Amino acid sequence: MTTDTSASPLVSVKGVNKHYGQLHVLQDINLDVNKGEVVVIIGPSGSGKSTLCRAINRLETIESGEITIDGKKLPEEGKELAKLRADVGMVFQSFNLFAHKTILENVTLGPIKVKGVDKGTAEREAMALLERVGVAHQAPKLPAQLSGGQQQRVAIARALAMKPKVMLFDEPTSALDPEMINEVLDVMVQLAKEGMTMIVVTHEMGFARKAADRVVFMADGQIVEQAKPEEFFTNPQSSRAKDFLSKLL
Ligand code: ADP
Ligand code: MG
Repeated sequence: MTTDTSASPLVSVKGVNKHYGQLHVLQDINLDVNKGEVVVIIGPSGSGKSTLCRAINRLETIESGEITIDGKKLPEEGKELAKLRADVGMVFQSFNLFAHKTILENVTLGPIKVKGVDKGTAEREAMALLERVGVAHQAPKLPAQLSGGQQQRVAIARALAMKPKVMLFDEPTSALDPEMINEVLDVMVQLAKEGMTMIVVTHEMGFARKAADRVVFMADGQIVEQAKPEEFFTNPQSSRAKDFLSKLL
């Protein structure tokens, strides 16, 4: 396989700033993510990780700077936004499945509504995805009938159904009972191995070590440092990162 090193990044965040009132929650954030790269974002609570994820998906406006996905700037609103947003699959801490729709419907809804995929095709693809995340037999059930770990795997399948170019995960396992964390992380590790471009906010350092190409450490609205996982974990440069890592153990 040849690598095109001149290729522009799949996700490009340039000089992004945002305030919440007086709080400068994103301070001149620059982050490029290449195709196939897995970037893990870690940092203390309140450092702006979720805000950055939401900004990348246009769930949050920015005051300055530019965010592009595959070279395209996200439009402010409307049908074009829905389409471009489909390029970014997002999985949140809370599963956010549609409570009154079946597991299968949860996965087919986006492709049918946003992408105009016909029902038969959408259902066939959804079943293949549910199979892939190990919950195909749950397809006719409602979300509440599934465990948290199963629901989160459905949420991943639902995001993948839109055939996104990049997957964004915001603490996908932090609301789960401990025994369910690995079943979700395993699906994510598999996705990473298959070459999916991923941005993952997580406190699961095992995942970062196993799957990340790069760790980005955020604190107080800034990217403080970034490095390969082994480098970051064994030799963090900033006192903020050292302090953060010491508290994780
Ligand atoms: P993280 O995900 O790293 O924990 P967040 O991006 O959720 O951090 O939040 C960063 C800071 O912005 C926090 O201090 C939080 O209280 C604040 N914040 C987040 N969302 C809002 C909002 N909608 N309005 C006001 N303040 C917010
Ligand atoms: Mg957060």
